[in-house]
Amino acid sequence: MEKLLQIQDLHINFRVEDKVFPVIQDVSFDINSSEILALVGESGCGKTVTSLAITKLLPIKIAEYVSGKIFLKNQNLLQISNKELKGIRGKFISYIFQDPFTSLNPLKKIKDQVTESYLIHISSNEMEAIERAKFLLNKVGITDLDDRLNAYPNQMSGGMLQRISIAAALMCSPSLLIADEPTSAIDVTIQSQLIDLLLRLKEESRMSILFISHDIGLVASFVDRIGVMYAGQIVEIGTVDEVIDSPKHPYTQALLESVPSDFDAQQKLKVIEGIVPAPNEYPKGCHFSTRCEKVMEKCILNKPKIFGISETHFSRCHLFG
Ligand code: SF4
Repeated sequence: MEKLLQIQDLHINFRVEDKVFPVIQDVSFDINSSEILALVGESGCGKTVTSLAITKLLPIKIAEYVSGKIFLKNQNLLQISNKELKGIRGKFISYIFQDPFTSLNPLKKIKDQVTESYLIHISSNEMEAIERAKFLLNKVGITDLDDRLNAYPNQMSGGMLQRISIAAALMCSPSLLIADEPTSAIDVTIQSQLIDLLLRLKEESRMSILFISHDIGLVASFVDRIGVMYAGQIVEIGTVDEVIDSPKHPYTQALLESVPSDFDAQQKLKVIEGIVPAPNEYPKGCHFSTRCEKVMEKCILNKPKIFGISETHFSRCHLFG
């Protein structure tokens, strides 16, 4: 399988005044062509920071790329110029964010926002861009196209705006779509419609998707592989079957035990006691040691390394290596 994106040994610090926050530590993963990889974990675990780091969208005043490589095919995105990166954002890698009300500009017509990337990257022909926008808006289920294109975001519902965000993200037929909690600000009744829509568009265009979510139960039904993040690190990664049916890391196990079952109304849900530590307060040893029910002495003293359980399944825990 061809690797589209490879992140290798990524370390990122945030510097705020005289404090250093090691927000991402030793993160490595690949995304294959036409594959959907989910990154899951609680808020504050580094999922969004990792996704923004891919095209260097982190705030330049505080973000420091300490080490690591991010390859899009053979090109290391951390070593190319800003001009070259601008040529990649929106064309080869595009994003959908959680809240379409804040990701779309309230002062610009939908037409201008949907066509923007096409006009920059593909062709300056406005008629051609509008035709492409209409084609994609139709695909995502938007009707009354002329009216919608001339409307402003505040004239539409959240569900409709997220469909428009998806159309805008697909204007240049990207190789990789990064969807950061794209359904969590949307009415629960249309969440599954939006996911079905993303899957259909992905099949038609053969693009890859990095899907970010706090909800491991949600992604289990439609992604190919799952990476579990905790406190700035990948703690487990594998195929859906490996991670869901045979989770190895205590954090993954706890996340799964906190997901309600469709079949067991009496099920007692797990609460993971405590909170994710702030990046400047990560424990010396295992980052999960302050909340882990299986903590041992060596967990407090030494950081566990990521360990291969199979060719495709890895866990970062002293129980396995
Ligand atoms: Fe728990 Fe130790 Fe494994 Fe960390 S290394 S997850 S503390 S058992």
